[in-house]
Amino acid sequence: MLRPKAQLQSVTELTPGWLMERGLRAVLLDLDNTLVPYKTYGEPPVGMLEWLWTLKQAGIEAMLVSNATPSRVRYWCDKLGIWGFGPAGKPWFGFRAAIQQLELHPEEVAVVGDQIFTDVLGGNLVGAYTVLVSPLSPGEMMYTRLVRKLEALVLGR
Ligand SMILES: [Mg+2]
Repeated sequence: MLRPKAQLQSVTELTPGWLMERGLRAVLLDLDNTLVPYKTYGEPPVGMLEWLWTLKQAGIEAMLVSNATPSRVRYWCDKLGIWGFGPAGKPWFGFRAAIQQLELHPEEVAVVGDQIFTDVLGGNLVGAYTVLVSPLSPGEMMYTRLVRKLEALVLGR
C-alpha cells in the first residue's frame, strides 16, 4: 500500500506519451512540493505551465487534489489553469471523489505526489496508478524545521 507504481524526479517527466502508454487519461496532482515549493505563492516553477499545456493538448485531464487551504488551492488553480479542490483529506478522502467526477476508472488515473503517507497511500487505496516524485524543496523544509527548533531553544520553550 505504501509502494508507488512509478518513481520520478519531477511531474514534468509525465509526458502524454508516458501516460498514454500506461492507459492513463488523467492526473490527480498534489500541490505542495509536487507542483510548487512548499507553502509558496508567486509564479509556478519554470516549465510547469508548458507541461500542463502539453497534457491539455493531448486530452489528458489534470486536477489538483491538495490538503492545502481552500484559498491556497484556489490561488494555484487560477495560476496553473487547472481545476481542483482542497483541503481534500488525503489519504482517506479526495481521490475517489475526483475519479468519480472525471468519470474514469481508477486504473486510468495517475495519482501524483511527493508524500508516501498521503499521496501514494491514498492513491493505492482507491486503485489508481501512483507516482511518487521528489519533493521540490526538501532543503527548505528541513531548514524551516531547524530554524523552528533553534527559535524554541532561544525562547526557552
Ligand atoms: Mg506534497
